[in-house]
Amino acid sequence: MSFDVDLFVIGGGSGGVRAARIAAAEGGAKVALAEESRMGGTCVIRGCVPKKLMVNASVLGAAVADAKAYGWQVQAGGFDWGHFRKALEAELDRLENAYRNTLTGAGVTIHDARAVVKDAHAVRLADGTRITARHILIATGGRPFVPDIPGADLAVTSNAMFHLDALPKRALVVGGGYIASEFACILNGLGVEVTQYYRGPQILRGFDAEAREHVAAAMQAQGIAIHCNADVARLEKVAGGIRAHATDGTAGDFDLVLYATGRVPNSAGLGLEALGVRIGARGQVEVDGYSQTSVPSIYAVGDVTDRVNLTPVAIREGHAFADTVFLGRPTRADHELVASAVFTQPELGTVGLTEEEARAAGPVEIYAATFRPMKSLFAGRQDRMLMKLVVAADSRRVLGCHIVGEGAGELIQLAAVAIRMGATKEDFDRTVAVHPTVAEELVTMRKPVR
Ligand code: NDP
Repeated sequence: MSFDVDLFVIGGGSGGVRAARIAAAEGGAKVALAEESRMGGTCVIRGCVPKKLMVNASVLGAAVADAKAYGWQVQAGGFDWGHFRKALEAELDRLENAYRNTLTGAGVTIHDARAVVKDAHAVRLADGTRITARHILIATGGRPFVPDIPGADLAVTSNAMFHLDALPKRALVVGGGYIASEFACILNGLGVEVTQYYRGPQILRGFDAEAREHVAAAMQAQGIAIHCNADVARLEKVAGGIRAHATDGTAGDFDLVLYATGRVPNSAGLGLEALGVRIGARGQVEVDGYSQTSVPSIYAVGDVTDRVNLTPVAIREGHAFADTVFLGRPTRADHELVASAVFTQPELGTVGLTEEEARAAGPVEIYAATFRPMKSLFAGRQDRMLMKLVVAADSRRVLGCHIVGEGAGELIQLAAVAIRMGATKEDFDRTVAVHPTVAEELVTMRKPVR
């Protein structure tokens, strides 16, 4: 049976683009890709990339104060959101084009349209064009979820944060995960008065408890009003703003309310259920270790499968799919020991087991140090850095590493290599320190703290 293309990819985000490029450029496949919004997907257009640029912008306010402490005669003149937004938009345009060029350079045909699956080997574009494909890859990502509370329409999601006309004076952030905590810090750094409500006892559930405490305490010290064990029950429009009523009886008025209460897979309306593609309770497309769905010609990668919802993981899944199907190299998507960083201020970098998870699995030794980094100490700042290794008492393997402080995202990448290789605490100890750095603490913690 002949098909129009060997592979049709729905979704031009991290996972879909990687799969399309490898299948075409390395697998020699005839590939088409449809994207209904902007090429690059959540990460590039409304996620990791613009978020990190906002983080970069927001830490510079404190850097000006540090520069003064170091003797520079500088004065922060206030943050110009309009200037930043324009530069951000230009950068996103550049990146979107780069993604397009990479794909077309690899021979992939791009359709700037929504596509839905019509049968196991065919898709239909928004204009009615039908395209047949030997394989179909669903890489449609996810979207923000907002709970159905009265006044929810007054809130925005992270999608809107990069397009604000102006920065608010007072912002409320709802949620305690990556996105909520990162935006609370970004806005605070840009001079916005920030309140954060989180329904649980401590923000960043799932991360190492000591690291969460450390991040939350530092955020509060910087002036973010974190309300834990409290959720927003309803929002109402009032003169000059939005009033939020919380479950703990408190209320406050804000200019902007950001809901960052999780994301859900974009699987609805694609024609998948009708075809018998198994969809899970959270809307995720169910796949096996090779990202194959219950319909053999249809695969899915990235956030739409709700496995580990991180860009580098989607990229790996997309690559493994292309290797498996088009390069004759069956490759399972690997979700072991995925390091990640939360770009709060201070940053949190993490890989492997938390202390709590490791303790539940067996005897552990905990090595931890908190200290004031030389750079900020000199500038008169009080912030402390946390370095922590979770070690298996019997095998001596380092099971987890948690770092809070400047550069934690960069540091954790390298710790992840060692841990992935099975490094023991003694391997860390044998490694000579690089001095003077903050990272040297990782190889100089001699005695367990518990
Ligand atoms: P998360 O799942 O991390 O956090 C969602 C937060 O919203 C949690 O605090 C959750 O509470 C709370 N919540 C969920 N439902 C409700 C509700 N009905 N009412 C009130 N609160 C609610 O999702 P995010 O949106 O922050 O991020 C989505 C994903 O994107 C992350 O899981 C991550 O994989 C990825 N991401 C990664 C980043 C990075 O690597 N730096 C940055 C941004 C996103 P509870 O804890 O009680 O469930």
